[in-house]
Amino acid sequence: MNVLLIVIDTLRADHLGCYGYSRDTSPHIDALASGGVAFDWAIAPAIPTHPSFVTMNTGQYPITHGVVAHGGERAIPRTSPWLPSLLQKNGYTTCAIDNLGEWRFGFSQGYEFYVDPTRRRALSINCDNRAINERAIPWLKQHGTERFFMMVHYWDPHTPYLPPRAYRNLFYKGDPCDPGNHSLDGLMEHPLGRMWKETWFNKLGGNITDAAYLEALYDSEIRFCDDGIGKLLKTVEALKGAEDTLVILTSDHGELLFRHKVFFDHHGLYDGTLHVPLIMRHSGFAPKRVPHLVAHVDLAPTILELCGVAVPDGMEGSSLAPMLRDADAPPIRDCVVSQECTWQMKWSLRTHTHKFILAREEDFYHTPSRELYNLDADPCELRNIADDDPDTARAMESKLESWIAAKMAKNGLAQDPLVSHGITLGKAWKDEKNR
Ligand SMILES: [Zn+2]
Repeated sequence: MNVLLIVIDTLRADHLGCYGYSRDTSPHIDALASGGVAFDWAIAPAIPTHPSFVTMNTGQYPITHGVVAHGGERAIPRTSPWLPSLLQKNGYTTCAIDNLGEWRFGFSQGYEFYVDPTRRRALSINCDNRAINERAIPWLKQHGTERFFMMVHYWDPHTPYLPPRAYRNLFYKGDPCDPGNHSLDGLMEHPLGRMWKETWFNKLGGNITDAAYLEALYDSEIRFCDDGIGKLLKTVEALKGAEDTLVILTSDHGELLFRHKVFFDHHGLYDGTLHVPLIMRHSGFAPKRVPHLVAHVDLAPTILELCGVAVPDGMEGSSLAPMLRDADAPPIRDCVVSQECTWQMKWSLRTHTHKFILAREEDFYHTPSRELYNLDADPCELRNIADDDPDTARAMESKLESWIAAKMAKNGLAQDPLVSHGITLGKAWKDEKNR
């Protein structure tokens, strides 16, 4: 079996048609979903980019592999299993079109071909899907007859949202600079607020006041990226071995846009950040929706099992292969633990019905240190009911702390790694601002 893994940075699930979005952002991804297996509730356990990609590739939670923060101190440990290396050792031609290898974390290990189209650019996130496809499509045409594992990392929906002009007004009608609009008044509370005003907004024509305009641009970036994905999928579908190629599409994390005072960034362990798309298509699997909770830790064990490679004991996720094969396969978990430690130092426990968020350090928005949300009644997580439902909050906090303590004991850690080697840029920024 060949594997094409498509990871779109910063793509929240609920802005895709196949996850119920009203705007036509994703015709090609929607077609992939309707012909494949779409997981309704895939959750990112590791926020943001670096922890998330390490988790996807190791099948381990950050508390085990140690990369708990974007730009943190820890490199990927040699003791952690690494998906591309395992496939390479089992005869796969491995290729990544990606830009994370330049960082000191060792993302390029295990790849026979590691192509970084962003090296010629000042900022990696300014590399749009066309530059990625310029490398990915010829590679597929040249190597598509070999047994391959290919990972393609797109960046279009990441800030700054600056899609080509043809896409800019797809989803917005109005005046983005209306002086009577105050939806961006809290922007300067975000550490990147000033930079965005001076660089990003200037490229959009000046004094942007309407957050809905920026959200519409985010959607335009998704549509732009979707068009690029359509071209990549067309190439894959024309390959000789197309029927035995597993196509997987996911994202590393979502984006909070302008809710919870988190403007256009991916921190805050709310579902806008944690809920990611996960679609797997192969001719051997009947199209279906899977309603169970799954997580990025499950990705590597799934790929290995489907490729006939033994899943190492060190992986903490579970293979989703039974769910791909059988519509009645039982769930593998009743909750997902997630963490973030770049702007904030937080843990969360998410079940199908509730989310509990625990702060190890006060954040710069002065959010309470304990948050509880009823996801059925309040899917946007706008009403913290930790004080109204203390029994549920206590029970979830206890379960979360037990999970953390068990992992620390197993990994021989004396201290929560968020505290011992995480970084929280947010608090440092706030302290500096208040000095
Ligand atoms: Zn990312």
